[in-house]
Amino acid sequence: MSETLFTKIMAGEIPSDILYEDEHCIAIRDINPQAPVHVLLIPRQVIPRLVDAQLEDQALLGHLLQTAGKVATQLGIGDTFRLVVNNGEGAGQTVFHLHLHIMGGQGFDEGRLAR
Ligand code: AMP
Repeated sequence: MSETLFTKIMAGEIPSDILYEDEHCIAIRDINPQAPVHVLLIPRQVIPRLVDAQLEDQALLGHLLQTAGKVATQLGIGDTFRLVVNNGEGAGQTVFHLHLHIMGGQGFDEGRLAR
């Protein structure tokens, strides 16, 4: 398995604020939050980008979506949150280990996070 920033976090080599973990994924607070609540949900398995996911990853992808809702609810933003997946450098992806951004904690104004 290739090493990424997130595998190092999972191995405890880089400190992070872990909010949730199970056998398939881990949720940590984003170090540079773009919303009052900004959490990254990361599969333990390294899939570099969403488009690299294979048919056999379907159950994992479903688990991530369902867990995102669970984590959002646990953080008190279950009614109003946004999920973002950046796929590729051009879309702003900087860590090539698939992750979901869970963002909330304030209202959305015409689909954008209200400032
Ligand atoms: P992306 O740009 O979609 O690849 O998202 C990568 C995210 O990882 C960014 O939102 C960064 O702020 C976040 N990040 C980078 N380093 C760390 C870290 N050490 N702990 C937590 N989040 C991090």
